[in-house]
Order: sequence, then structure tokens, then C-alpha cells
Amino acid sequence: MVVLPRVHASWDRVIRTTIGLRPHRPGGFVLKADKLDGKTLIHNYGHGGAGMSLSWGTASMAADLALEQPVRQAAVIGGGVVGLTTTRELIRRGFEVTLYAATLPPDVTSNWSLAGFTPTSGLSTAAARTPEWTAQFQTAVDIAYRRLQLLVGPHYGISWITNYAPTDDERMAGGSNSLLPEHIRGAQVLLGPGEHPFPTTYAIERPEMRIEPSIYLEALLRDARIFGATIVVRKFESARELAALPQGVIVNCTGLGAKALFGDPDLIPLKGQLTVLLPQPEVQYSTSGGARVQTAEPGLGIHMMPRADGIILGGTSERDIWTFDVNEKERQRIVNGHIELFNSMKGGGRTT
Ligand SMILES: Cc1cc2nc3c(=O)[nH]c(=O)nc-3n(C[C@H](O)[C@H](O)[C@H](O)COP(=O)(O)OP(=O)(O)OC[C@H]3O[C@@H](n4cnc5c(N)ncnc54)[C@H](O)[C@@H]3O)c2cc1C
Repeated sequence: MVVLPRVHASWDRVIRTTIGLRPHRPGGFVLKADKLDGKTLIHNYGHGGAGMSLSWGTASMAADLALEQPVRQAAVIGGGVVGLTTTRELIRRGFEVTLYAATLPPDVTSNWSLAGFTPTSGLSTAAARTPEWTAQFQTAVDIAYRRLQLLVGPHYGISWITNYAPTDDERMAGGSNSLLPEHIRGAQVLLGPGEHPFPTTYAIERPEMRIEPSIYLEALLRDARIFGATIVVRKFESARELAALPQGVIVNCTGLGAKALFGDPDLIPLKGQLTVLLPQPEVQYSTSGGARVQTAEPGLGIHMMPRADGIILGGTSERDIWTFDVNEKERQRIVNGHIELFNSMKGGGRTT
């Protein structure tokens, strides 16, 4: 029997609700070299709900594209996880990098992620994917998975924990995203009645990589400075402004900002909302699903990720919604779903 400390889920433990707009494209991220006047323009944007997971992969591939031309001065546009990892990968290849960004951590979408290793989440839709993109994705996920493993530890705020998916449907076990190579799908164990503390018949147990955004992004920003990048806070209003930069290579890592800068009609936000409870350092497992309360929209689940900065409760995705207003109905669904789940857990401490 797995015994787990209970998450004390209750409304009086809520400390904040945050909103982030995931940069989603049905066809997946854009990773390609282009021309902007006489310069090389490399796009690296549109990572949906998977940017924290994939960024080292597309950063490394974007830096390889940059190496194909002779200039060694690069401008990276964007200071979220994609821009910061791209900066590091360019510097590793001998580039002199200036990072320009309208905002820096903690004021980037990357700070508002959950953030587990979820390389396919909100990233693309099957009908819009091309075989070429799928091949790029699989290279990116391989690189990223290895890089993140090497960063495990308190300095970067990356760790392995165990995820439980409480379910009444044993067919959920083993069913995993076919986009992912086998070695990344992870070992799963189906726990039956009496083997887990959740109010469902089964729970699927699997290892999960956890990334703590406030620690990770600060460390990446510090690294960019230590490794010699110049950082300039500046917002660009048009591609023409970018063309006037002194660097011969420009890497576009602007996330959702690429819509206004380059007019990508496919790029839309998937609005995500997280509600955070007071931290509980003894909780070192995450959960996916388990709510018996009917969800507002079919297919939407609930997720809990414990971090140093709080117990993070998520599970919302509002397509093409651009506001940063709190969706109260979704907040109720997420918090009440977790209250119900953890209050009906067996053992593990007090119920609030
Ligand atoms: C609720 C939620 C949960 C999530 N959970 C996960 C998860 O579990 N796992 C995971 O992998 N991902 C997760 N994500 C997704 C992840 O956060 C994004 O994929 C990632 O943050 C995208 O990074 P980015 O660097 O492209 O964008 P951003 O972090 O938005 O950075 C964009 C940068 O570009 C700059 N910029 C934009 N326009 C301009 C301009 N015109 N001029 C100058 N600078 C500009 C911005 O200022 C910023 O610095 C989640 C997201 C949300 C909202």
C-alpha cells in the first residue's frame, strides 16, 4: 500500500491565482531559418504547453541553424525559457549574443507554468502536423529530455518525483502519446484496489520530472549573464525594427509575441490558470486527474504539482482567450476538484 501525505486542500490555504497564455499553433512550434533583409532570421517559437519541457531541444537546433552562416554575432529576441536556453546554446557554439526582451523573468509566460516534463501538452493537433515537423519534434524532445536530466538538483530547481493518476478505468494505464519515443513515455505501474490511497479503483504511478519555474528561470538568466550575454530590455513593434539591429543573425523566441511581430495567423493563446495553496514541503508527489466533480468542458482534467513556492493546482486551457482575468468558474472547478480528491484520500494526516 502506497502511503502519501495528504495535500491540505482548502479555500483558506489559497495564496494566489496566476494566468499565463500558452503560445499554441495547431501545426506545432516553428523552427526554421528565413531571411530578413540581409540578415538570417531564425524562428523558434510556438511551444504551446510544452515550452518548459522542449526548450533545450529547439534551442540546440536553432543554434545549429545559426552555425550554417558565417556571422558570429547574434540577437536573441525573447527572455522566456526559449530565449534563455537559445542564448546559452549560441554561446556554447561561439556566438557573441545580445538578448533583447520586452520583459524578463519573473514577468514571462514561462514563470506561469505548472511545470512538469509534458513535451506534447497543448503543442499541436494531429491533423495539422507534418512528417517534417514530427521529425523535428522527436529530435527536440530527445535533446531536451537528456539536458534536463543533467540539470537535476537544487541549483536549477529540477527534480524527479512520482506522479499518480487516480482513475476508475484501468485502460488508462499504458495508453500514452504515440508522438513520444518509447524511452520517454516512462515506466508506469497500475496500482489496484488496496494498493493506493485515492478514492478511485486504480491509480497509475509513474516517474515525472518537475521544473520549478522561479528557481529555474532565475538560474538561466544568471547563466546568460555569467556566460557573457548582453541583456537589453526592449520591446520591438515590427520586424522592420529587428532588421535595423547590428547583429547579422536574429533568433525569434518571442512566444505569443510572434503573432504581432510576424503576423503568424496560426498562433493563438491557450489561456492557463493556476491556483496556488500554501507550500507543504512533505508533499513530494504530483497527481493528474481524480476529480469526480463533472468538468466544465469534457476532456479537461485537474493537476497538482508540489513546489517550494506552493502546491500548484491547474488543469485549464481556454482556446484563443487573450485576457488575464481570473475565470472564477474554472477556479472553483480546479480547487473544489482537489478538495474533493484529497479529502477522500485514505490515511496520510489531517483533513481540512
Ligand atoms: C498554466 C500553464 C501551465 C503550463 N505548464 C507547462 C508544463 O507543465 N510543462 C511545460 O513544458 N510547459 C508548460 N507551460 C507552457 C510554457 O510555459 C510555455 O510553453 C513557455 O513558457 C513558452 O516560452 P517562451 O519563451 O516561448 O515564451 P515566454 O515565456 O512568453 O517568453 C517570451 C519572451 O518574448 C518577449 N517578447 C514578446 N514579444 C516581444 C517583442 N515584440 N519585443 C521584445 N520582446 C518580446 C517577452 O517579453 C518574453 O521575454 C504552461 C503554461 C501555462 C500558462
